[in-house]
Amino acid sequence: MRMSKGFALIVSGPSGSGKDTILRTLFEQHPEIRFSISTVTRPRRGDPKEDEKYTFVSRDRFEKMIENGELLEYNEYLENYYGTPKKPIDDAIKNGDVIILEIDVNGAANVRKNMPQIKSVFIMPPSMEVLEDRLSGRGTEAADTVKKRLDQAKAEIARRDEYDYIVVNDVLETAVDELYNIISNQIKNS
Ligand code: 5GP
Repeated sequence: MRMSKGFALIVSGPSGSGKDTILRTLFEQHPEIRFSISTVTRPRRGDPKEDEKYTFVSRDRFEKMIENGELLEYNEYLENYYGTPKKPIDDAIKNGDVIILEIDVNGAANVRKNMPQIKSVFIMPPSMEVLEDRLSGRGTEAADTVKKRLDQAKAEIARRDEYDYIVVNDVLETAVDELYNIISNQIKNS
């Protein structure tokens, strides 16, 4: 599909909402959609898939990027920085591409200040029970980190009304289709 006008779309959702799986499936089905690779200072979890999502840097380097104005937005989340480099977003939009910013609720609020036209999607877990199971079942993090992520998830879910669309991740294929429909409607209207 050739896209006439490029745009960025925010996708947020708490850790454990299954947003990564939805996005991975979306990109497999629609490889023309681009993804904004975030720069982060958090330690690696040892999953090689992380390198598709993140560039890992030191706090010093991250703070230089803030000073140099290289970031469209950034947030400190559970004591680590997460930020969106600006240039790839500008380039994608200029190029007529669709680019997804997978960022947290604070980052989303910051982007809306600079790009009021940007649309945003919030991915919800099907229930709090499922969310808790997913967070504790990951097995890659200490119990106190799991607890912090769960509290953080609850606080994020409380802000879902700031979003233009909500997609409930109950059945994966349905959630992916819903997200793609949001994108294709925006392509038609842009
Ligand atoms: P995780 O550590 O689980 O990979 O990500 C934690 C949170 O950081 C998630 O809610 C994710 O959406 C968010 N996040 C990832 N990249 C960025 C970014 O560039 N900016 C902001 N503000 N949040 C991000």
